Formats: sequence, structure tokens, C-alpha cells
Amino acid sequence: MSKNIIIAIDGPAASGKSTLAKLIAEKLNFVYMDTGAMYRAITFIAIRNGVINDINSIIAIAESIDIKLKFENGITHVFVDGEEITDFIRTPKINSKVSDISKIPDVRREMVKIQKRVGKNCSLVAEGRDITTVVFPNADIKIYMNADIDVRAERRFKELSEQNIKITLDEVKNNLKERDLIDSGREDSPLKKADDAFELDTTSISVDSELKKILSFVEQIKKT
Ligand code: C5P
Repeated sequence: MSKNIIIAIDGPAASGKSTLAKLIAEKLNFVYMDTGAMYRAITFIAIRNGVINDINSIIAIAESIDIKLKFENGITHVFVDGEEITDFIRTPKINSKVSDISKIPDVRREMVKIQKRVGKNCSLVAEGRDITTVVFPNADIKIYMNADIDVRAERRFKELSEQNIKITLDEVKNNLKERDLIDSGREDSPLKKADDAFELDTTSISVDSELKKILSFVEQIKKT
């Protein structure tokens, strides 16, 4: 039986993590785990249940939620207790709340537990903010992605505009800055580059050009 391989990718919002992770997962037939979708799902349920400011209720949601991620045709479909919520978790409202929910240590503990469990059973590409540092510190390949804030804002603005979401470039940029600040400044598992992560700056290069390199690393690992 061949060894399970874990590829861990961290980095701020719109740095190109999802694009790269999806390409790797599709090429290698690995499971793709979008951990941001899990924090977004909890945020969505907390808003819908009217408990977004009630920390104990939010922790109770994290402890009992049944989240399923299904990656199909380039899209991560997100299900909570069997209900699909994919279309509701990437809105400006969720963007403005998700980092405050993700900084709650008990919420993180529950999500990390699920993520580690998935990583025991398959070859996987996981992306998030604590994947190389906390969830899979012994991953076979660790990558920290980044890009200039203006480039990231343009990318995210284009994605949201394509979904007909009414928002200005400035609003997108401010939200990215605010999330970067909360995600990197929180006490529990802040976003940071792991010492042994390979740094990839996508300000002026496309992820396609790096894909070959990563795939050849994986081939080498498979042979060892
Ligand atoms: O990756 P995405 O932008 O969907 O993540 C949304 C938010 O979820 C991030 O801004 C961060 O607050 C949180 N997150 C996290 N840890 C992860 C993944 C996402 O705290 N592993």
C-alpha cells in the first residue's frame, strides 16, 4: 500500500491557496480540504441562529455541528446536518464576521480535531491559516502563500463581482486587511509562516508555474 501524503498550505485570504490546492488535488486525485469553509459554516449557522455575539452558543455549535465538505467540479460543496449551504458562506456578511469566530480557541479545537481525523485516512491537500503550524506540522510538503494586498483585493473583487455581489474594491481591500490583522494577531494558532515552509509569492507569478515543481516533489516523496 502506498504512503498517504499530506500537502499543507497556509496564507492570507486571496493569496492563491485555493487555486493551487485544487489544481494539486485534481492532478493527484488527493482529497481537497478547504478549512476556511468550515469556519465559514459555523459563522453562517451562528448568524442564522441569531447567536453571533454569544460565545457559549457559538462553541456549542462547533461542538455539535456535522460539517461535510464535498469537492466536485472545482467547487467545495458545504453541508451542515445534511443541508447544503455552499452559496451562503462567501458573502460580505460572513467575511466580516468569520475571523472573530475563528479566533475562539474552543471553536478551533473542534475544527482541528475533525481536520486531523480526515488526515489520518487519505492523501490530502489542506489549506487554511494554521495547517502547516498546528493541524499538520509534519506534513510532507508545507507551503506559505502570499501576495501584495492590492493584487489580492483585485482578485477577490473580481470573484465577488462575477457572483453579482455588490461591493466596492475598497470594501474588499479593507475586509482583507481586517481579516489579516485578526488572523495573524490572535493568540490561538495565529496565521504565520512555519519555519520550514516553502514561501510562494503570487503577486506577479501564476500558480500554474509552481504546480510542476510541487508535483515533482510529490513524485520524489512517493519513491522514498
Ligand atoms: O480561507 P478563507 O478565506 O475561506 O477563510 C475564512 C476565515 O476563516 C479566515 O479569514 C480565518 O479567520 C478563518 N480560518 C482560520 N483557520 C483556518 C482557515 C480559515 O482561522 N485553518
